[in-house]
Order: sequence, then structure tokens, then C-alpha cells
Amino acid sequence: MNDVGRVAEKGSVEVTELMAVERYSHFLHDAMPAKLIAKNRLVDVRFAVNNIHFPVSEENLKRAYRRIVFEEFFTLQLAIALRKKDITKEAGLSHKAEGKLLDSLKKAIPFELTKGQANAVKQIEEDMKGAKPMNRLLQGDVGSGKTVVAAHALVLTVQNGFQGAIMVPTELLAEQHYLNLSKLLVPFGIDIALLINSVPENAKQDIKQKIKQGEIDIVVGTHALIQEGVEFNKLGVCVIDEQHKFGVTQRDILRKKGLNPHVLVMTATPIPRTLALTVYGDLDVSTIKELPPGRKPITTYLVENEKSGEVYNFVKEQARAGRPRPPIGQAWRGRQAYIVYPRIHESKSGEVLAATQMYEKFKNEIFKDFKVGLIHGEMPANEKDKIMSGFKKGELDILVSTVVIEVGIDVPNATVMVIENAERFGLAQLHQLRGRVGRGTHDSYCFLLADPKTEDAQKRLKAMEDTVDGFAIAEEDFQIRGPGEFFGTRQHGLPEIRFGNILSDMEIMEQARKSAFEVVQEDPQLIMPQHRLLRENLYRRFRGKMDLIHVG
Ligand code: ADP
Ligand code: MG
Repeated sequence: MNDVGRVAEKGSVEVTELMAVERYSHFLHDAMPAKLIAKNRLVDVRFAVNNIHFPVSEENLKRAYRRIVFEEFFTLQLAIALRKKDITKEAGLSHKAEGKLLDSLKKAIPFELTKGQANAVKQIEEDMKGAKPMNRLLQGDVGSGKTVVAAHALVLTVQNGFQGAIMVPTELLAEQHYLNLSKLLVPFGIDIALLINSVPENAKQDIKQKIKQGEIDIVVGTHALIQEGVEFNKLGVCVIDEQHKFGVTQRDILRKKGLNPHVLVMTATPIPRTLALTVYGDLDVSTIKELPPGRKPITTYLVENEKSGEVYNFVKEQARAGRPRPPIGQAWRGRQAYIVYPRIHESKSGEVLAATQMYEKFKNEIFKDFKVGLIHGEMPANEKDKIMSGFKKGELDILVSTVVIEVGIDVPNATVMVIENAERFGLAQLHQLRGRVGRGTHDSYCFLLADPKTEDAQKRLKAMEDTVDGFAIAEEDFQIRGPGEFFGTRQHGLPEIRFGNILSDMEIMEQARKSAFEVVQEDPQLIMPQHRLLRENLYRRFRGKMDLIHVG
């Protein structure tokens, strides 16, 4: 069904309501100011309501549809424009970019920044020097090197006597960032702490105390960072990594732990532009378009389940990399591989493979000459940490895992990603998982093991074979699953869109956004008489629903 038909159908569900509206339609006031109606060539509200209900022509139905969707998007963008104004209206912590710490960091980085990275760093420095708090999104595909850009923001704030916080979605990633940042920054005398839930209670209290007293410069943490009881002495910058795993609300809680701190959010999930204008509509955007030099493309194969033996043989070849056999119990120290499963434990039906069960089989049979490790979300953090650092050091050849390694994990020597029951994962998730390889200078491979039962499932997995372009994949995933699923089940502050189609109505979204930002520019409080109804609509739609909106 086309969009127009969809609206008409939605309309018919509410037929009694609409008929009532129609009967009293001469009482219906148009919330859109006349100026905007004229400028955007909209039909008036009465025309729209009547023609959605009883269109006299296809043309009228289209015009009615455009008006209704425009108003819907306009209200949304009005809310976003107000939020943006709200965040940036207070004075920021204007920082000085020149200084010894930042110079030391620049010297300590063992590679040259790509153009995209250098640009992002420059924009961040400009933001943080400015009179208003930074509110920036850093977009860059998996492996494009966002972490080192974040390090600049953190060091810049420390150089200015403030504290930095970086929040990530998993403990594993928090530990990785903690180790990497420590290696890079502790030599300059910067104090770094790790705050995750699995830190023992008394150690946690100690860390919190130090954060409060300003004895810690940079905190790396998970959701634990935004819990009650975490107070900063002088929070200067919040970095939120893998933002798509968090909600707007969580971003705000962290932000409010400081006095208008700078905010940098990072994501590897490129999203369709219309959606970006909605979810990230209040942020300035930096994009890293290229990968660091020397990266080889990842070759992806879709393989039937029954051929898994061949894939395992390939894993062995890579792990050996032409080396002689090491003493029993030691790794071959060739290339390394991840083998990922959708489940931790075996299910009753046994239909879906599980990491723990396959780990036993690999260790004792298939890969018995190799060093195999297991990692999953139910393991205590220190155990996960041990396994992960062992893998990173090359003490393991093969890591059997669940999606705990989905985001952020960086082991350049790993060149093979095997994903079993691949049909169980979303495309964006498969892309993230695949991004765990191809991070060094060796050729890399991704094997998707699956027997897709439907044509749709087949098509989805084929798309992974055909492209490594995260944006194309995200768009495909989004088309198939819709915005809710696309973002997972978490609260994303993404408002419900009832009438418009966020992909095909892109042009309407852009016009509505332009108008909304103009209105807020002209009348930031929406107190002009012609904006009274807009203000009321805004309250009705968003009040209490989203922390996102602060209508004053
Ligand atoms: P992501 O954008 O996925 O978070 P990371 O920050 O984890 O990417 O970086 C991926 C890998 O690339 C890391 O090993 C990092 O050290 C390396 N890297 C980052 N920038 C560069 C660069 N300019 N040149 C070479 N290697 C780089
Ligand atoms: Mg990352």
C-alpha cells in the first residue's frame, strides 16, 4: 500500500473521531501560522481533514497527506529546535586548546590521523573553545578510528583543569578503552578510573569519592556512570561511545552531572538522513568518511550450515599461517578468529547453536590442536577481561563468543569472523560484528553460516555479501525492520511517527525542519499570538513523554 493509502486507512480506523471532527470542522483552528502555510504551499487543516477522509481526487488526497505529514514533522522539529536552543543557551566552559598535555597526546599517537579524524579533532577543538557547550555527533563506520578523536576531547578538558567521562554500552568495551587510554595517557600524569557495575562495592565507593574530589581526571564507564551517587567535581566533557545503544535520556543524565559540559556522542551506525535529522537533530555532525590507510577489504561469504567443516578448516589455516606446530597448549600465533553464536546456552529445541556447547566441541575435537577461549555476557567481568586480554595478546587462536563482542572490540590480528545461525541477527548487528575483523593490514574474512528459510532472509544475508558499506546496510535493515526494531528495544527518545514515512518523506522532513528552526529563531518562547496553537500542540504531543523536550 502506498503512503497515501496508509494514511487513509489509519484515518478510517479513527472514522468516528474524524466524522465528529468533520461535523464540527468549522470550529477547527489551524495551528500552522498563515505565513508558513503560504510559504510551504500547504492546504489548510479543514481541507486536509476532509480530504483524508473523503478525497474527491487522488490529487487532493496527496495534498491532504502532505499537509498532515508536514505538520507532524514540523511539530517534531519544533521540539528538536527548542531542545537545541535549550542546551546551547547557557554559557559553556570555554577551553584553551593550546597546551602541553594536548601536544604530548598528539606526539604520542603512533600514526598519522586520517583527514576525517583531523577534521573532527579541529571541529571539536573549535567547539570546546567556544562560548557555548559543544553538542556534537561523531559518525564514522566501524574501524574508522573514533576512539583517538575522543581522546583529544578528554585530554583537552583535563588540560583545562576539568574532568572527562566516557560512557560505553558494555563492560568489555569499557575495559578495553580503560586499558588503551591508560597506556596512552597515564605517562602524562593523567589519572584514569574504570567504573562498571562489577567493580566490588568498596572499590567503587573509593572511585566515586575520588571522582567527587577531583582526584580522577578521566572516568571510563558503563551505565554505572549515570547512576545515583556518581558526582563529579568539575565535569568538562562527556563522551558517549556507541550512542545508538543508548537513549537520549541517558545522554542527558550524564550531561546533567556537570554544569553545561561539552558533549560528544559517537556512533558507527550510520542512519538514514531523515532519521538522523530526528534522532540527532539537535547535534552538530562530524563525519569520518575514510578508514585508516592500509586496511584490506573484508571478504564475506554466505555458507550453508552443512559446510561448516570447510569454514573451520579455513580458520585452522589462518591460525597456523604457515607456522610450525607450537608446544601443546600454546597458541599458533598466526591470525586469530572469532566464532559467534546467538545463544549462550543450548535451548530445549536445540534449533539454535549455543556458544558454551560449541566451545566444548571445539576445544575437545575440532580445534583440539589450537588454543580456544570462550566469552559471554554471564561471565564475571574479571574473567571476561582475562579472556579478552589473552586474545588480544595472541595467547588464544580462537575466541568463541556471543554478541558481547559486538561493539568496539579492537584486535587487529583477528582476521576471521564466523557467525553461526546468522539469520538470527539483524543486518546492522552483523555489520558491527564483521567490523571486529579487517582492523589490521591482513586480508580478512567473514563467514555467515545459515540456511535462510525465506526469500527475505536470503536477501538480507546476500546484502552482507555484496557490500561492506555500513550506510547501505543500515538503510536496508531499516527498510526491513522499521525504526523501533532498528534501534533495538531500548528507550531512544524516538517519538512515534504516526502518519509520515521517515524514509520516503525525507523532502517534507527537511522543509518542516527549516521552517521549525526559523520559527524558534524568531520566537524562542513561542509567545507570539500566531504561535499559540503551535505551543499547545507541542505540549500535548511531547509533554511528559520524552525528556527530550524542554518547553519553557
Ligand atoms: P572505531 O571507529 O570503530 O571505534 P577504533 O577507534 O577502535 O575504531 O580504531 C580502530 C583501529 O584503528 C585501532 O586499532 C586504532 O588504533 C587504529 N587507528 C585509528 N586511527 C588510525 C590511523 N589514523 N592510522 C592507523 N591506525 C589507526
Ligand atoms: Mg569504537
